[in-house]
Amino acid sequence: RKPRLCETRPVRTTCPYCGVGCQMDVYVQGGRIRHVRGAEDGHNEGSLCVKGRFALDFTAHPDRLTTPLIRRDGELVPAGWDEALDLVASRLLAVREEHGPQALGFLASARCTNEENYLFQKLARCLGTNNVDHCARLCHASSLVALVRAFGSASATNPMADLDNAEVILVTGSNTTETHPVFSSRIKRLARTKATLVVVDPRAVGLTRHASLWLRPRPGTDIAWINGLMHVILREGLENRAFIGSRTEGFEELRAALGPYTPEYVQSATGIPAVDLERAARLYARAGAATILYCMGITQHTCGTDTVLALANLALLCGQVGRPGAGINPLRGQNNVQGSCDMGGLPGVLPGYGRVDDDAALGRMESLWKTSLSKNPGLTATEMFATPQVRAMYVMGENPAVSDADVSHVQARLAGLDFLVVQDIFLTETARLADVVLPAASALEKDGTFTNTDRRVQRVRAAVPCPGQALPDWRILNLLGPRLGVSMGYDHPGEIMREIALAAPIYGGIDYRRIKREGLVWPCPDAAHPGTPLLHRETFPRGRGRFVPTHAQVPAEMPDADYPFLLSTGRVLEHYHTGTMTRKNEGLNRLVPACQAEIHPEDAKRLQIVSGQQVRVASRRGEITVTALLTDRVAPGMVFIPFHFAEAAANVLTNSAHDAAARIPEFKVCAVRIEPE
Ligand code: SF4
Repeated sequence: RKPRLCETRPVRTTCPYCGVGCQMDVYVQGGRIRHVRGAEDGHNEGSLCVKGRFALDFTAHPDRLTTPLIRRDGELVPAGWDEALDLVASRLLAVREEHGPQALGFLASARCTNEENYLFQKLARCLGTNNVDHCARLCHASSLVALVRAFGSASATNPMADLDNAEVILVTGSNTTETHPVFSSRIKRLARTKATLVVVDPRAVGLTRHASLWLRPRPGTDIAWINGLMHVILREGLENRAFIGSRTEGFEELRAALGPYTPEYVQSATGIPAVDLERAARLYARAGAATILYCMGITQHTCGTDTVLALANLALLCGQVGRPGAGINPLRGQNNVQGSCDMGGLPGVLPGYGRVDDDAALGRMESLWKTSLSKNPGLTATEMFATPQVRAMYVMGENPAVSDADVSHVQARLAGLDFLVVQDIFLTETARLADVVLPAASALEKDGTFTNTDRRVQRVRAAVPCPGQALPDWRILNLLGPRLGVSMGYDHPGEIMREIALAAPIYGGIDYRRIKREGLVWPCPDAAHPGTPLLHRETFPRGRGRFVPTHAQVPAEMPDADYPFLLSTGRVLEHYHTGTMTRKNEGLNRLVPACQAEIHPEDAKRLQIVSGQQVRVASRRGEITVTALLTDRVAPGMVFIPFHFAEAAANVLTNSAHDAAARIPEFKVCAVRIEPE
């Protein structure tokens, strides 16, 4: 019998899935999760999506890792903690001894807490390398580069609740209803009641049904339409001259660059009718407050950095930033991808975004950790897989064997390493290639904090015990650190947060005792500071906002006679990332049991494909078999495949060509052919 609510104990925690960071009460009895409810007093106002509400049962799944595993005679076999940790330490030290610290590579985790990411990058850096990165490389690396150049800071400028103050909401490259479901409810409600919603997306994503205006560019043409909006705004004198004069620099260079982007040119380059472009430009520029929400449809391109810069130019041109309802907001995907970046899970920056080659920032970390550190920026994740320099890797809570572009190449690199250690909750496709597997606690089994897409630091609390011998990642790092000569010795994650406050000035005033039900939003520099939900009110971190003109570019691989379809990859509501957790849930598997490729009915008719039929999709890198789903959500000539399914991994097909500045691969455009099975 399922216990009644009154027979259970509630634990307030943060949803372990997406970057919305919904607050939830998890009702526990007998060491198991029995009910889940959205917290009425959380920023999600009691709402949860299907994943948060019904898909926490992965915690009790029989496939959970319960003991360390060591590879012997080609097989992963159970081992004790001491034996496994001693082996990890001795092999990592041996590789460092023989090949130097730059032969080590570390993948931190957007799934893990701030405290765990902090310890993980501390371990890497104290071993002498900045080769530490995580899956932000695959989602918002281009935002990090671009928004730092434009503003001096790369995070969302406004909290989600501030959307209520926007008159116009411009959503581009974000399938918000499926990737940030609870936030999308707010957008839909506002579109029904008081805001004008403009959606720009090549696919008919859910929000297009709620939009006043839907612009449908061809994939990979975003810079052209954004520059086109600005061309119209300048032509009609709708720019915000006071803001440009007092808060920005580089305007004349931008103006000169926008000349060619006439509505007629944009129509031919993108497919967006000139009249719709003009209407969108007027709506955005004339709004008292307009906000831009964007996601990976913008960032996952070889021109991702330039496209985000174009969006920043647009916001600066109209003064649509630094006020309630006005801002530019990259929607962070995973539960703690914001926090993993904040904690320095990146090769070029330390906790709090001090650069590794900045003497003052490096010196602060050296005196805190009492060791000397490398000032050479490390390798990105994409570089770790592209070059043979890295010979041993430590992967905490990530699954690059499914999530990265051109995944067959990544799998071969992982299998060919001198040593691979993976720390995770299940035997993922990456863990199966490891020499040592360390069993970790899930987010429902440990304490700590996550930082959501608002920059809101929220508590994570243990609701149920760890299975078997599994341990929280911070405890594993605590045990491993001394074996590698790195001082740890923490008794509780709250103690780690006190060290984070010393390491990262933006977290300077964050302490567990201060994190109440509404969380605490960084920058929060000292113990008396209330947090900073709205950024750039008076000034930008770099002083003036900087216009950086950018120009339209062609994706690295476009359809041709051999591979005539354009593939774009993404997500569906019911599954999450590489499916490690959601594909353990019976209900979600019933709703979406397998990988489906969205194909336009006209294309299907020509290829004699019917809905539900198995089809082979091939690119220059490999081939997968998936189920055809005929829909006009995609335009003719385009196919969309979600990347959640390891047995039909969309990333077998994707192109590892990447943005030169941010090293993010072009997941949104590559060329494929489709054939019936
Ligand atoms: Fe969890 Fe995101 Fe769904 Fe909220 S919207 S319940 S954070 S998955």
